Amino acid sequence: MKKTVAIIGGGPAGLMAAEILGEHGMKVDMYDAMSSLGRKFLMAGKSGLNLTHSEPFEKFVARYGNRRAQVEAWLNDFSPNDLREWARRLGIETFVGTSGRVFPVKMKASPLLRAWLKRLGEAGINFHLKHRWNGFIKLAAEDGDRGNIKKDGGLRKVSVEFETPNGIKTIKVDAVILALGCGNWRRLGSDGVWVQWLEQAGVKV
Ligand SMILES: Cc1cc2nc3c(=O)[nH]c(=O)nc-3n(C[C@H](O)[C@H](O)[C@H](O)COP(=O)(O)OP(=O)(O)OC[C@H]3O[C@@H](n4cnc5c(N)ncnc54)[C@H](O)[C@@H]3O)c2cc1C
Repeated sequence: MKKTVAIIGGGPAGLMAAEILGEHGMKVDMYDAMSSLGRKFLMAGKSGLNLTHSEPFEKFVARYGNRRAQVEAWLNDFSPNDLREWARRLGIETFVGTSGRVFPVKMKASPLLRAWLKRLGEAGINFHLKHRWNGFIKLAAEDGDRGNIKKDGGLRKVSVEFETPNGIKTIKVDAVILALGCGNWRRLGSDGVWVQWLEQAGVKV
């Protein structure tokens, strides 16, 4: 049985998570409040879409200040050059501008997003648009379960609720990834409301 994962938020963070989980054989369902994905990413494309920077790795990681050690470990796995190679595999060539910053040759996000969504769809990722997570998330109750451990020793599923055009929809999955973005440019989908929901649940944000 494939593990099931719900990713809530279809911006670049959620899309990248979907890609990696799909490659590792999980069944991935992506949910987004809007009627299309990656709206802020498309907006970023209007100013050319600065994908990364070409400066030497040592200088690049120094930009992360006191988070450097943590971020450096991630960047060792997926470096600025890996990002350019990732874009190239989607058919998007990049170039280094005079400032050292890296952009797609076409200076926009839409061709990259189109190719990315196509590849994710072909990899079996399911997209559910107009599904707004309403903050409800809890362990699904089953007889005899204790804590988050099931009777058979496995982990309990998680219940999540969405507001949809057809009313409230509840799903049960093995894991949930929140990729909800920040609170600016609200009209593009991310409103930052999740911060208070998580804080109310005792999660440090
Ligand atoms: C004008 C502008 C220019 C920019 N230029 C660049 C640039 O050149 N280079 C660069 O790297 N970055 C740039 N950025 C920043 C970049 O767009 C963001 O960093 C990026 O989009 C963040 O990705 P994300 O996936 O974390 O969040 P988002 O892209 O915001 O995606 C979050 C998604 O979650 C969904 N969502 C939120 N709440 C819910 C909910 N309750 N239920 C269901 N779905 C929900 C939203 O609809 C959205 O689709 C720019 C941004 C702007 C506004």
